[in-house]
Amino acid sequence: MNSTHQLVAAWTVLLAGCWACGETKTVTVELDTSAVPELREWGEQAKALVEEWYPRIVNLIPTKGFEPPTEVKITLRKSDRGIADTAGAHIRVSSGWIEKHPEDIGLVFHELVHVIQNYGPTRQGWLVEGIADYLRWAIYEAKPLSWFALPNRPDGYRQGYQVTAGFLLWLESDRAPGIVNKLNTALRNKNYSEELFESQTGLNLDALWAAYQQERRQPTD
Ligand SMILES: [Zn+2]
Repeated sequence: MNSTHQLVAAWTVLLAGCWACGETKTVTVELDTSAVPELREWGEQAKALVEEWYPRIVNLIPTKGFEPPTEVKITLRKSDRGIADTAGAHIRVSSGWIEKHPEDIGLVFHELVHVIQNYGPTRQGWLVEGIADYLRWAIYEAKPLSWFALPNRPDGYRQGYQVTAGFLLWLESDRAPGIVNKLNTALRNKNYSEELFESQTGLNLDALWAAYQQERRQPTD
C-alpha cells in the first residue's frame, strides 16, 4: 500500500465515523393515555409531532454547550379544567380541551418548546410564553405578522403568548434578526436582562413596542 492509498484509507475511516456523528438528534417519547383510552389516537398524533419537531426546534434555538432533555413524557389526563402544562420534560394535556378542540394539536408544539427551553424557574414568564408562541404560530403554523393580536397598551409586550410572539416576529424580520435565540440563550444561561433589547436594536423595550404599534397601525405598503 503506497502513501496515497493509506491517505484514502484514513479518509474513508474518518468519513465512515462522521456518518454516525451526523445523525439527527432523536427523542424518546413515552405516551400515557391510560386515563382516557378513547383519546389514544390523538395521543399518537402528539407523540408523532414531538418526534418530528424535536430535532428541528433544538436546531432553531441552540445554545453552545447546552443539551435539552432527550426523554419526553406525554400524559393525557382526565380533566375538564385547563388546557396543558409542562413540568420539566413532562407534558400533560386535559381531555376536556382535546374533546372540544381535537384540531388543536399545535398546543403540543408549544409545550414541546418549553421542554427544549429548559429554563428552570424564571420571572420572565411573558418572554418564555412569547418565545414558545412565536415558534408555534410564526414557524409551525406559518402565520403572517398581520395575524397577531396587537393590544393598545404601553407595555403590551408583557401580555406574553401570541401578543409577545407577534412582537418577536416583527423584531426578527424588521429590527434584530437572531434576537429570539439571543433571548433564549440568555434565559438558559440565567443572564437575561432587558438591556439585551437595547443592545440589539438601539431602543429600550417600551420604545420598541411603541415603534411596533406604530408600524403595524400604519403599514408602509
Ligand atoms: Zn406555555
